[in-house]
Amino acid sequence: MARRIGFFICECGPNIGENVDIDAVLNAVEDMDDVVLAARFGLMCSGPGKDFLKTNIKTEKLTHLVVAACSPKQHELTFMEVCEDSGINPFLFQLTNIREQVAWVTKDKEEATEKTIRLAKAAIRRVRYHDPLSKTALAVNADVLVIGGGVAGMAAALRLASPERRVHLVERASSLGGRVAAQGPIYPTMASGGEMAASLVDLVEGNDWIVVHRYSEVSVVVGFFGNFEVVVTGELEDGGTLETKVNVGAVVVATGAEVLEGKPLEDLGHGSIDGVVSSAELEAMLADGSIGGKGGKAPKSVAFVQCVGRDEVGYCSEICCMNSAKQARLLLEAAKGAKVHILYRDLCVPGRDQQAFLEGAVKAGANLVRTTSVEVGGSKDGITVSHSLDDGKAEKLMVDMVVLSPAMVPPKGTEGMAEMLNVELDPSGFLLEAHEKLEPMAAGIDGIYLAGSASGPRSVGDSIVQAEACAGRVLSSLIPGRTIEPEIRVSHILETLCTGCQTCLEVCCYGAIVYDPTKNVSHINAAICRGCGNCVAACPSNAISLYHFTYKQLYQEIVEAIR
Ligand code: SF4
Ligand code: SF4
Ligand code: SF4
Repeated sequence: MARRIGFFICECGPNIGENVDIDAVLNAVEDMDDVVLAARFGLMCSGPGKDFLKTNIKTEKLTHLVVAACSPKQHELTFMEVCEDSGINPFLFQLTNIREQVAWVTKDKEEATEKTIRLAKAAIRRVRYHDPLSKTALAVNADVLVIGGGVAGMAAALRLASPERRVHLVERASSLGGRVAAQGPIYPTMASGGEMAASLVDLVEGNDWIVVHRYSEVSVVVGFFGNFEVVVTGELEDGGTLETKVNVGAVVVATGAEVLEGKPLEDLGHGSIDGVVSSAELEAMLADGSIGGKGGKAPKSVAFVQCVGRDEVGYCSEICCMNSAKQARLLLEAAKGAKVHILYRDLCVPGRDQQAFLEGAVKAGANLVRTTSVEVGGSKDGITVSHSLDDGKAEKLMVDMVVLSPAMVPPKGTEGMAEMLNVELDPSGFLLEAHEKLEPMAAGIDGIYLAGSASGPRSVGDSIVQAEACAGRVLSSLIPGRTIEPEIRVSHILETLCTGCQTCLEVCCYGAIVYDPTKNVSHINAAICRGCGNCVAACPSNAISLYHFTYKQLYQEIVEAIR
């Protein structure tokens, strides 16, 4: 069938209309090969604008469409839908951006018009080489894998599990609950962390739609949103291992954070001076009643040292100040008249509730001391804490107990987890979210979500909120019985040209390419490929091509643009 191309230029009100000579553009393109109509419209994305396109597609029997308007990010889909509604394959369409790339940036009208003509002609020449592409629909598996059985993992699992959605909850320890299971009161509510974790464990264990894999780790995850194949490796009592294969549509990572150990604490006397403990050790003593509680003793003077290891890890862990404020309150309740000092560098107190909580600790007797350096030493009368104040003055405290508040760090195995899931790490070694503000619960890979402290230290409350937000994202996108339409502008490899060099595997950020050693060629999984084009550029044998961005299409477009 002969090509009949329609070219339409949008005025975008004054945005384009006042800065580009639109009639000159129409005159310049109307005689190009296969162009049967060149027309203008005020606001092409409006209802009347779309109707204008549809009417002309019908009356002029157009086979291809070119629109000169704004950024494809803004309206490419709008006009592709117009094509679909009018019976044109949406890939026989080209949008050229003359607003952001011309009208808004090229001040001289003559120059802007000349630039617009070049872009319009390039788009028309390109569309002549477009091929129709067909969307495919894939059935989704609505089941979900949750990695990590702490409170965040359990909260996500409980929100997700239903008769239509089985959840596989994988925990490397023998029991669920994570760090919170061993905690006493948690700030700011002072509800018992242990009791909260225990009630979540009861709910998880009583839920028919949650399969708990204890003593287990996830060893393989391959696939894509809607269809992941997973291997869970469990430890057996006889020391052997058991591999269980499960299929899921999404993965929630809730692997939490750990407390820093080692030199930064040892430098402050941990392990060598009696009475120097970490905040986690104090938490355990408060929870089991060996400090405070009935019969438990309580130190008369305590110094909390904040930010231990902060310089080594290079970031603020955000939750330690409030944790120390909570522990200070508990110690002050346990021993009336006790002296409790919190030696801090910067206070991290996010939100009004936390602010009020900290003020409560100060009212109860906690003494906040801003310091620039701290040294801890042992003596026969107690522990000496020498520190420099903000103004450079040196001070010394004599206390019964020193509580070191160390940085929170990614749990062991995070690097391997990132590699397996193909998720990036942030500079501090936690899993990187897609966007800190806009997508804090999504990883950069479709179908993989980050809950709790997996992407950085979080309080118990924030972890649960984020876990539920993750579950919300899964529930709204992975709907039982629905299908997904994967991107079709993806790459493919021509086996006859592939030399098996595997360069493409190194540049694919999405793990979409696998090497087949039996045939010495690589393959692209079209469902995972995001069409970024990295592999196309990297392949030394020109064996890779990207649908809708073929060499021929790009060449024709560029030739016309620079003519
Ligand atoms: S299609 Fe784009 S350029 Fe045209 S009116 Fe809409 S926003 Fe403006
Ligand atoms: S880079 Fe090209 S030649 Fe090398 S394995 Fe990939 S497709 Fe084959
Ligand atoms: S186009 Fe990008 S995402 Fe697709 S296989 Fe190539 S490098 Fe990977």
